[in-house]
Amino acid sequence: MNNQELWTRALSEIELSVSRANFVTWFKDTKILDQKEGTVIVAVPNGFSKEWLENKYHKFILKSIRALVPEVRSVSYSIISPDTSVANGYASLKMKPKREFSLPAEEQLEFKEFAVDPKTNLNPKYTFETFIVGSFNELAHAAALAVTQNLGRAYNPLFIYGGVGLGKTHLLQAIGNYLIKENKNKKVIYITSERFSNELVSSLQNNTANNFKEKYREYDLLIVDDVQFFSGKEKTQQEFFYTFNALFDAGKQVVFSSDRPPKSIQDIEERLRSRMEAGATVDISEPEYETRLAILKSKAAERKMDISEDCLELIATVVQKNIRELEGALNTIQIQSRYQNKTLSFEEIKSILNKNIKPKSTITPTQIIKTIAEFFDIPEKSIFEKTRKTEIVRPRQIAMYLIREDLKGSYPYIGQKFGGMDHTTAIHAYEKVSEELKKNPGLEEEIKSIREKYQKLK
Ligand code: ADP
Ligand code: MG
Repeated sequence: MNNQELWTRALSEIELSVSRANFVTWFKDTKILDQKEGTVIVAVPNGFSKEWLENKYHKFILKSIRALVPEVRSVSYSIISPDTSVANGYASLKMKPKREFSLPAEEQLEFKEFAVDPKTNLNPKYTFETFIVGSFNELAHAAALAVTQNLGRAYNPLFIYGGVGLGKTHLLQAIGNYLIKENKNKKVIYITSERFSNELVSSLQNNTANNFKEKYREYDLLIVDDVQFFSGKEKTQQEFFYTFNALFDAGKQVVFSSDRPPKSIQDIEERLRSRMEAGATVDISEPEYETRLAILKSKAAERKMDISEDCLELIATVVQKNIRELEGALNTIQIQSRYQNKTLSFEEIKSILNKNIKPKSTITPTQIIKTIAEFFDIPEKSIFEKTRKTEIVRPRQIAMYLIREDLKGSYPYIGQKFGGMDHTTAIHAYEKVSEELKKNPGLEEEIKSIREKYQKLK
């Protein structure tokens, strides 16, 4: 097998088992340089990738390559900057593997994400326990839980839709993982609509279509991810329709995900669409600020990262799109911090984020509070005190107003941020300031100056 083919095939195996953020971070700009005498040399773009692949992914890379070429004994990594032309002859670069790499097994990270179960295609890292619930996804989460409690009876089928990176795959797989943990005899399969389609096509080519049909009718739970890709595939839709009916009639559970609701999927047979809509359809929307912060806290703790609350607030403010990007940002920071062998400062993190993401606004609640304290010339911590002194109450109310208005913080979050007040206090503050703004141009001026002050912080 030539270098390119071997690496492409090995990577497609690896990609299935690694989160997309990790995959992009660690495997971008890699290739196989050479294979000889049982050693495969992988080119990596920089020292950091090299270290990371050697220390964390080596076992898995070796395993994936050996599954394709059993004679391979070892893999080594060499740094080739991506702009070096390696197209014409690696030999001229005099690549010599410096050392054969084999870390003791226990030093390799326990990458649970690798352990995709080939019987179910489930990745055990996707569980309900690791799934954070906020108002943006609580309905989908509740429906998924209900399905595990009443398989085939609660919501059948369950259809979950939402944009990329918002946790659809995680939630779908959590259902499957939960079931096989509760009851080993339950037959569960997770499949993407594309893979279903590919399997069908090859079964038709190999005259094994009957096996294919039988296989899919045996399951207690069939999970089909990203069904928008059924669009335009007539034969697949037809076959899937029969499979669905067979399962449904037998009282078996089906769960779907898609990036859009059934009615918006183009080129799909009406009868299949109406089946998809017949159970429960729930969406996952985008996480609001405080949920993004909660997710970051939990993931940073999971990775044992040394990162301050202020920095996490900054990430939650800048990265607004989806959870995958939040993870990606943490990844980048973790890499940099490891590379430089120190904890990164707020400024350093800000500049990393600015490089990668176009910020809408990089102001954090803490910065707003700090600016306000300066503006009104009061000690910052007095804002958090339970006091009714006017010289404190007013700045506090303005701070609450601005966090609500400019950062879209929810009332419960704001209340909590201000030393555990309840959300009613936050609502009251917001309304009071809004009302006063209508009739007090002086306040308007004040707020304008405060905003200018913290806009400059960016
Ligand atoms: P989708 O399938 O909607 O594109 P994924 O399920 O692949 O999104 O989620 C992207 C990443 O974000 C995954 O690593 C996943 O574990 C993580 N993630 C998504 N939602 C949550 C959540 N609610 N709590 C914790 N992690 C989440
Ligand atoms: Mg997905």
